[in-house]
Amino acid sequence: MSKHIETICVQGGYVPGNGEPRSVPIIQSTTFKYATSEDMGKLFDLEASGYFYSRLQNPTCDYVAAKICEMEGGAAAMLTSSGQAANFYAVFNIATCGDHVVASSSIYGGTFNLFAVTMKKMGVEFTFVSPDATDEELDAAFRPNTKAMFGETIANPALTVLDIEKFANAAHRHGVPLIVDNTFATPVLCNPFQWGADIVTHSTTKYMDGHASAVGGAIVDSGNFDWMAHADKFPGLCTPDESYHGITYATKFGKAAYITKATAQLMRDFGSTPSPQSAFLLNLGLESLHVRMERHSENALAVANFLKNHPKIAWVRYSGLEGDPYHAQAQKYLPKGSCGVVSFGVKGGRKAAETFMKHLKLGTIATHVADARTCCLHPASSTHRQMNDQELEAAGVSADLVRLSVGLESKEDLIADLTQALEQV
Ligand SMILES: *Cc1c(COP(=O)(O)O)cnc(C)c1O
Repeated sequence: MSKHIETICVQGGYVPGNGEPRSVPIIQSTTFKYATSEDMGKLFDLEASGYFYSRLQNPTCDYVAAKICEMEGGAAAMLTSSGQAANFYAVFNIATCGDHVVASSSIYGGTFNLFAVTMKKMGVEFTFVSPDATDEELDAAFRPNTKAMFGETIANPALTVLDIEKFANAAHRHGVPLIVDNTFATPVLCNPFQWGADIVTHSTTKYMDGHASAVGGAIVDSGNFDWMAHADKFPGLCTPDESYHGITYATKFGKAAYITKATAQLMRDFGSTPSPQSAFLLNLGLESLHVRMERHSENALAVANFLKNHPKIAWVRYSGLEGDPYHAQAQKYLPKGSCGVVSFGVKGGRKAAETFMKHLKLGTIATHVADARTCCLHPASSTHRQMNDQELEAAGVSADLVRLSVGLESKEDLIADLTQALEQV
């Protein structure tokens, strides 16, 4: 029976047997016992599946990973301790020293830093392309050593909407998978696999958790990319792994090859594993994700419409809004809503934005997005405060930009709060 996303959010991943706990159990144990060394040896050789040490795998984390896998319609998935770890593993699992990756330039600042600075030091080079690039411009970014393409469904904080189909086609023309960070959309609003993406990542810290309780990440593999058809590009998957007695992931594990390799090698060696307690909290968030995403989107659209018509607002960006440059793309990829994040400029620039935010009573100032409580950030006076106005423009962050993460409060109350704060400007 193929289930709807609402049912998977509530019941996916964990199916208790007779007399077992109805809620996902928290298996707060680092280690697992075996009767014989031989039994355990088989786990170490990847000859049998099972748990032996929670740095690699833990039942609670696996239940929750299985739910996210089902939500995305994937073949295999794993949790990580953060979204940063998820994006690092997702790329590093197939691109190492001497390799190259093509990425959209419209991505989260932390991911940009990971790619352009830290992974560069590790010998992985990135070419950044505009999310609006033509097919020809995309093709021109690929090199013989390109191993992956990367983009965000709804970019944080630019709020551009990725043309997933265009990016997937470009990646596949060059024999590499498309990795999509689906954090802001979540599988409730967009299913990147449906449009040709091969691997999806998440910062579960955002809407999936939804209550600002636990930092976490996830990687889901569609199982659709044929590694063996491009064996020369992906030796890590298609040739024997000496650290596991010569097994070849792509032939031994089929559609689970990519996730098995990421768990067996990267989790083993880097250890960015989530705690079972955090996975339990994430699951609580997932159980209501479908209800929350609808309301976040509805509230944000109402707020965006209000701001668009306000005389003290210079501009508004929200792909759900008619007239937004990404509205047509949002109708294709995000028919159920454009999430809760809206960005806008207050007339009067930096000073006006600061005054406006100081007077908000419901919207709190926080370096966070995507939780139940409305919050906002003025990058020019916080995350980007070392930059002057010209440098801000160059970074695509104008001095007047306010990023508002619209929560689950009453939209009438939120609009009343914005109204009184704008009166102070
Ligand atoms: C927050 C975020 C990340 C990083 O996730 P953490 O859980 O903070 O490590 C990655 N991608 C996107 C789109 C994000 O919003």
